[in-house]
Amino acid sequence: MYLPDFDYYMPDSLAEACEALARFGSKAKVLSGGTDIISKMKSGLLSPEILVSLKKLDELTKIEYVAGKGVVIGARATHNDLVNSSLLNEKYLSISEAAHHMAANQIRNIGTVGGNLCNAVPSADLPPILIALGATIKLVGSNGERTMLLEEFFLGPVKTLIAPDEILTEIVIPDQPTTGSTYLKFGLRRSGALAVVGLAVAVTVTGETLQDVRIAIGAAAPIPMRARETENFLRGKTICDELLAEAGVIAASESKPISDLRGSAEYRRDLVRVFTRRALRKAINEGHV
Ligand SMILES: Cc1cc2nc3c(=O)[nH]c(=O)nc-3n(C[C@H](O)[C@H](O)[C@H](O)COP(=O)(O)OP(=O)(O)OC[C@H]3O[C@@H](n4cnc5c(N)ncnc54)[C@H](O)[C@@H]3O)c2cc1C
Repeated sequence: MYLPDFDYYMPDSLAEACEALARFGSKAKVLSGGTDIISKMKSGLLSPEILVSLKKLDELTKIEYVAGKGVVIGARATHNDLVNSSLLNEKYLSISEAAHHMAANQIRNIGTVGGNLCNAVPSADLPPILIALGATIKLVGSNGERTMLLEEFFLGPVKTLIAPDEILTEIVIPDQPTTGSTYLKFGLRRSGALAVVGLAVAVTVTGETLQDVRIAIGAAAPIPMRARETENFLRGKTICDELLAEAGVIAASESKPISDLRGSAEYRRDLVRVFTRRALRKAINEGHV
């Protein structure tokens, strides 16, 4: 499999990159780590005439805390940047752990957060935990910028709200009262496998009460889904094993998985049931975000 011919642009600034995307329109695609787009080009699934590389945009690799805003993750941060970030290890260990369970080290070294989100693959590992933590994203285009909740970004498999001339620049995890969060992934191998189901929860616990909860599930619907019915059932209740088991049943019934070569819809639904209970228990007990 050979790469087809294409022109390569490596702009020095974000403005220049957006301008190039606007100028070339549907002929151009963004290149970040290239772990996905290059293999699609090699197999003939995509054939952009122009690749606009983000390689020189070092400002998009930062992971930093901005007072009044939250933790800001640049779209070009790699999965291993998430794994090794002392800020994330301290504030949102669940994000580092989700990244650690992705792919193999070689892919984690070059695959980026922005690529993972813009790909919009239902089984992607980062959307569930970022959605559970209430992440927002910033899209910058030739006509300005906009922000939105990450959970509103996805329209369907491989479909998002991003316009052809826009670049996803950053993901923000807002300051929050969350007391615990976690991401559980079931793959067909222990490492390097895509999620059959990936499920994230973020909880706010006071004493024995589950004050607030967000549950986001990957590979259980065409887009990473919030399990809102389950969240509404849990909010404000006293924590006990029966409650968490019942939550699993509700989450399974509101999930909308398909059958494919990695698992049947029925199997996925049962994984959702079990993982909802386990993830809630882990986030409640371990108490680190
Ligand atoms: C062997 C292998 C194993 C994998 N395992 C996993 C896994 O376990 N879990 C998982 O979730 N994924 C996995 N992936 C998928 C992939 O590696 C990740 O989704 C990765 O994060 C993609 O990032 P990238 O920077 O390489 O994206 P690229 O390939 O550079 O781009 C992907 C798409 O997003 C667009 N894009 C990229 N960045 C931006 C941006 N900032 N703004 C606008 N558009 C952008 C590109 O135009 C392209 O359409 C795997 C891939 C491979 C090859």
